[in-house]
Amino acid sequence: MKIKIGSSILELVQGDITQQDTDAIVNAANRTLLGGGGVDGAIHRTAGPELLAECRTLGGCDTGDAVITRGYKLKARYVIHTVGPVYRGPSPNAERLLKSAYQRSMEVAMAKGIRSVAFPAISTGSYGYPLKDASYVALLTIIDFLWNYSEIKLVRFVLFNQRALEAFETSLKRLNPAES
Ligand code: ADP
Repeated sequence: MKIKIGSSILELVQGDITQQDTDAIVNAANRTLLGGGGVDGAIHRTAGPELLAECRTLGGCDTGDAVITRGYKLKARYVIHTVGPVYRGPSPNAERLLKSAYQRSMEVAMAKGIRSVAFPAISTGSYGYPLKDASYVALLTIIDFLWNYSEIKLVRFVLFNQRALEAFETSLKRLNPAES
């Protein structure tokens, strides 16, 4: 599924974030930036040990913030590492921090002159954020950003399985009824 937001494209695909050829891919990291499972583990395995070496120099990242490194052996030139909230039940704070993770990732990308970014479904794996709610917050935040800033021309959500893709498609139809 693909929609236009102003002069930019927002796209949902099923796939593996480590294989994306966008200028940047986003890592659902943890606050230490020293590696983990899920997307983080897959990105570090594909990028090679130099990525961890660069991450060690950064001194971590707060929940809801984002930092950028090079992509090393990845197809993407950059990795934007962001930290989503650990989900402990519905709360305005969890939603605010998830929104901030997407927003700060976009700001960091824009500051580097990046034109295309691929995102995973932040916080929906080991951090436990329900896909239905997380997908809605993710899409709302990105759509809002793309309406306000047109420098980033492509945002691609790369969903790991059919269930995640369907959750994002349902949320996008809710947000963009003209497409359904
Ligand atoms: P978090 O700790 O933020 O929850 P995870 O890495 O555990 O991060 O999971 C985030 C989401 O990424 C989950 O929906 C998971 O299924 C998905 N995922 C795991 N590996 C990949 C991958 N290689 N590409 C894209 N998405 C992935």
